[in-house]
Amino acid sequence: MNFNFEEILKNEPKFRLKQIKQAVFCGLIEDWGEARALPKFLQEKLQKEVSLDIKAEVFASNNEEVIKTLIILEDDLKVEAVLMRHKDRNTVCVSSQVGCPLNCSFCATGKLGFKRNLTSDEIVEQILFFNRYLKHEKNQRVSNVVFMGMGEPFLNYENVMETIGILNDKDGLNIGVRKISISTAGIVEGIEKLAQENIDINLAISLHAPNDELRRKLMPVANKYSIAEILKAVNEYIELTNRKVMFEYIMIKDVNDSETCAEELARLMSHKLYMVNLISYNATGIFKPSSPEHIKEFKKVLEDYGIEVTQRFKLGRGVRGACGQLAGE
Ligand code: SAH
Repeated sequence: MNFNFEEILKNEPKFRLKQIKQAVFCGLIEDWGEARALPKFLQEKLQKEVSLDIKAEVFASNNEEVIKTLIILEDDLKVEAVLMRHKDRNTVCVSSQVGCPLNCSFCATGKLGFKRNLTSDEIVEQILFFNRYLKHEKNQRVSNVVFMGMGEPFLNYENVMETIGILNDKDGLNIGVRKISISTAGIVEGIEKLAQENIDINLAISLHAPNDELRRKLMPVANKYSIAEILKAVNEYIELTNRKVMFEYIMIKDVNDSETCAEELARLMSHKLYMVNLISYNATGIFKPSSPEHIKEFKKVLEDYGIEVTQRFKLGRGVRGACGQLAGE
């Protein structure tokens, strides 16, 4: 798919672009013949030049709230995208790369190695796929987007920013920036660049350990960026944007879930615009998840220090929801 309609429409009147965006992203047409606002010759030209097909496999689960898909790209590589439904909120978790170069020890995507960056069109396609799905299902739309699927968004910075521009377009998907979140393993240059963009997007940092020594054991990228460097960039980001920043912390049994870890984490997280999201570990390999009781105790330690803590449960469990699990099989 190619959403660069400007190029194709360069000899057409300006309003055609708006009509086409509306047909594709709001009307959710799957064939140019459905774009009735367009003259026949243009429909035919688009039919030849721009495919509206999305090749995908859907993995339903017994849990209706989570639907996972494998999108098949033009070069036959596959990426995952997950729809999570909660009340009237429809959140899509998108991939930004095929595979991932970071190789975090707990993550299934890392095991696949890195294949290539996704183009902005290939990222948008993941959202468009679920918009079509929701239209058929219940006439709903994707309301939120999180960059928490396969890959490291800040190692594909330009394409991710271009994607956000397309998602945000009032004539198209019209998803507000405050409904979009980027999660990074802590690529400092990416945090610094984002701070300069002047957009109200949500930033999340995958911390997963309260000190560099442990973090290096879990995330090789920690050899490149220390926690202190990451927090310095985050603080500058907060100075410029005044936005809250979320720190993700996967709870892995006997690895990073001790009381000492909780206290060390609490001291790191003392900034009033930091918040912590404790994530149940989705077992994919060598580690085991912490028990719910244990997570509760860990949470209590943080709360006693006055830190804002939220908890993410295993939403994706029924469909092998951990990132990279499907594509790996
Ligand atoms: N590379 C980015 C975004 C992709 S991963 C990042 O690191 O933030 C999205 C989130 O899922 C990260 O916080 C990641 O650490 C977490 N994650 C990876 N494997 C997981 C697993 N098996 N169980 C729970 N969370 C996992």
